[in-house]
Amino acid sequence: MAVETRASAFQTAQQRFDAAADVIGLSDDARSGLRDIKRELTVHFPVHMDDGSVRVFTGWRVQHNISRGPAKGGIRYHPDVTLDLVKALAMLMTWKCAAVGLPYGGSKGAVACDPMKLSKSELEHLTRRYATEIAILLGPEKDIPAPDMGTNPQVMAWIMDTISMHAGHSVTASVTGKPVDVGGSEGRVDAPGRGATYLTLEALKYLHVDDETPTMAVQGYGQVGRSTARLLSEAGLCVVAVSDSRGGVYNPKGLDLASLEEHRQVRGGVGGFKKAENISNADLLELPVTVLVPAAVQDQITVENAGRIRARLITEGANAAVTPEADPILHDRGIFVVPDIIANAGGVIVSYFEWVQDLQAFFWEEEEINTKLHHVITRAFYEILHTSVNKRIDMRLAAYVLAVQRVANATLVRGIYP
Ligand code: NAD
Repeated sequence: MAVETRASAFQTAQQRFDAAADVIGLSDDARSGLRDIKRELTVHFPVHMDDGSVRVFTGWRVQHNISRGPAKGGIRYHPDVTLDLVKALAMLMTWKCAAVGLPYGGSKGAVACDPMKLSKSELEHLTRRYATEIAILLGPEKDIPAPDMGTNPQVMAWIMDTISMHAGHSVTASVTGKPVDVGGSEGRVDAPGRGATYLTLEALKYLHVDDETPTMAVQGYGQVGRSTARLLSEAGLCVVAVSDSRGGVYNPKGLDLASLEEHRQVRGGVGGFKKAENISNADLLELPVTVLVPAAVQDQITVENAGRIRARLITEGANAAVTPEADPILHDRGIFVVPDIIANAGGVIVSYFEWVQDLQAFFWEEEEINTKLHHVITRAFYEILHTSVNKRIDMRLAAYVLAVQRVANATLVRGIYP
């Protein structure tokens, strides 16, 4: 059996870029500017803890590319985060924004910390100091953060307030994913799951899946997984399995999502739900379903299990859930993958709408946001699909080819200053 040798996250990101650059036939000069990071800032900063002690935290803000517009990217709070990972995620944001046609570059930020172990006041102090440390890079025309793993609308509100205090006036467009009360957008919370839903329905149409009731399994019943399950179930799919970090539940006849949600609220997880049998996260991935939605963490579908996946379609809700080595196995087996770069792009698309609404101080209703999201993400899906069919490459490589070409065009036409 083939064994995967693990490259670092940033090396993997560069490999994906190289593959797209090869298809395009990009010159060495053009590659050199895109293959590396434009700016990376590391900050070490002290925070007063509740017990009176002072603890020093490390954080980063990385901008990969800003040729097409201000940098855009989330902020992650997680104990295992590294500069290498932040660089990889910043590069992914450049391609994600370009793949769906947003006028943004790509960035990412992070603080190495476990937010679950911090009190609310410690989290606020950490956030405000981190925002101050990286403020030199931020602003509506420069770099606009958003939530990612471990951060949420409250954290975004604190960052917006901190930047506003420095400016002396409210700068609502400095951050997206804020609460609606402070310039957030309707529809933002569901946006990644709604985008994944629209694309799953388009892919089922394209694949001519005529199952009377297509079935689906969702790994990771968090923000993205829950929205996707709920919206696809409303669209007529039957959700047979879901999981969280402690394991999953399976009922081949379908899960009652309303009572599952009540159970989850009480128990803090999906495990032990009475109207289903327990299933491991590994077994969930190999269920005979029409649609599989990995919406938890990276590296879930690998060379080890790609040969046993039985889904017809994978909608990759989580970033990098499929490893580069597993991609060709799935492709050869005729399993259609809607890759992360577009599958979860609903989040950044509605973030873009939020930024536009803040800049013009004119807010849209949720129906308008959802209609615009549908338009932008479906257009991107068919552009990628046509590239995939015409060039006989998989959907992920096709998305990268379109994205890299757009960023290369912008870089070329701008020229080199001075
Ligand atoms: P979340 O924290 O709300 O949910 C994650 C879920 O996965 C939880 O149910 C958790 O218990 C589960 N989980 C964690 N580790 C697991 C494991 N090893 N096996 C199975 N389940 C596990 O996070 P989220 O915001 O839903 O993000 C999920 C993925 O989607 C991440 O890769 C994230 O980067 C990506 N994403 C999120 C957004 C967004 O706006 N929330 C946007 C784009 C991409």
